[in-house]
Amino acid sequence: MSINGHYDVLVIGGGPAGMMAAGTAAARGLRVLLIEKNDVLGRKLSMTGGGRCNITNAEYDVRALLHHYGEAEQFLFAPFAQFSVADTVTFFENEGMALKVEDRKRAFPKSESAQDVTDTMIRFLRKQGVEVLLSTAVEGFVTEQARITGVVTEKGVIRANAYILACGGRSHAHTGSTGEGLSWLEELGHTTHDSNPNLVPLLVEEVWVRKLSGTTLSNVSIQFAQGTQRVKKNGNILITHFGLSGPLILNVAHEVKQLLVHGAVTATIDLFPEEDIGSLRTRFQELYEAHPNKTVENLLKEWFSKKVIEMVLYPFPVEVRRTKGHALLRDVRHQLIERMKHITCTISGTMGYDWAIVSDGGVDLRDIDTRTMQSTVHQNLYLVGDVLHINRPSGGYSLQLCWTTGWVAGNSV
Ligand SMILES: Cc1cc2nc3c(=O)[nH]c(=O)nc-3n(C[C@H](O)[C@H](O)[C@H](O)COP(=O)(O)OP(=O)(O)OC[C@H]3O[C@@H](n4cnc5c(N)ncnc54)[C@H](O)[C@@H]3O)c2cc1C
Repeated sequence: MSINGHYDVLVIGGGPAGMMAAGTAAARGLRVLLIEKNDVLGRKLSMTGGGRCNITNAEYDVRALLHHYGEAEQFLFAPFAQFSVADTVTFFENEGMALKVEDRKRAFPKSESAQDVTDTMIRFLRKQGVEVLLSTAVEGFVTEQARITGVVTEKGVIRANAYILACGGRSHAHTGSTGEGLSWLEELGHTTHDSNPNLVPLLVEEVWVRKLSGTTLSNVSIQFAQGTQRVKKNGNILITHFGLSGPLILNVAHEVKQLLVHGAVTATIDLFPEEDIGSLRTRFQELYEAHPNKTVENLLKEWFSKKVIEMVLYPFPVEVRRTKGHALLRDVRHQLIERMKHITCTISGTMGYDWAIVSDGGVDLRDIDTRTMQSTVHQNLYLVGDVLHINRPSGGYSLQLCWTTGWVAGNSV
């Protein structure tokens, strides 16, 4: 498309926050240009939720929902009073996309397709008459006194009355989120917090972990320890070829990173967090008495999958797995039970930006009027989505933040 004249609103970044902001502003009759550096819109959005897109969290109680946004909770009452989870669901239903809710209130499109969500947003932009300029990177802002008067691109300076910055954070940079927006905001006089990978898998030093790639450990506990500091969580853990992942790990990564500042962290997994050693010993005895001819390996099949058995038996000599349960020496039996309660590995780091669902850091919320998402430093600048400094867990909270802040900016600009 050719750039034609002066716009009311210029949106930088065609992710979920930018598309929601652009469409909402255009729906009010404003002339809106959306600039995206990729040759497609919503590249990251199309890969969310493992390709299924966890589009929001169906927690309709605003107070309960906002509790998940940590220190940002108070700032978010104003935007969520204008565009809530219920509004998100209605928005997508009106755009022809039905949603369904799964465990932990995670909402997905019924089609289970993240690409459908992107396509729905693109149809919304077309319907509202948003002009879209693809394959064009914004290189910076032009300012005069306290106003932004244009953005620099390879196609020249493009001007508008107001600007919405929606260029994301730093996670999965290959999708286009390379973080330059944060440097511009610093130059403009905004306070920003250092960016860090967050909701990120953890790297494990020991090689045995790799052999178990694809295994899920259900209803376990994991304790992370560094010096005298401890962090303990219960839930499901996914073992991958490099370490540990899954919602429990992603959500605790923030705390583990703080422990990692002081050195490697020891993780101890308890496969039976609800049961003490005494009760487990009794259960194991009942098991081998009930199956006197079964080897240890076969007995453990009553409790675990093949890969978890490998993990449990890893430090033991091979004879142990072939021994019949009742013939095991008492000490070895006790070591086996002890192992189920204390499987240790060393966490040497996180998987970094390329694997992080989000990066924390971003512009300080005190620099924003969250009733409008307007910058308090530059009156004609609005900030939305991942450029904001807001920590949150996995479960649809990130995209909800994009829908809400995008809508509020689009409706206020
Ligand atoms: C693998 C993965 C899975 C995820 N799954 C979920 C999930 O299921 N549910 C959930 O809630 N969240 C999920 N997230 C997080 C969610 O995707 C992000 O929070 C969300 O995409 C942020 O949206 P945004 O619009 O702020 O930024 P982005 O989606 O990062 O979009 C920013 C856009 O701006 C463009 N841009 C950047 N710089 C420039 C520039 N200089 N000029 C022009 N354009 C520019 C980029 O190319 C990009 O398209 C996931 C993230 C990842 C990486």
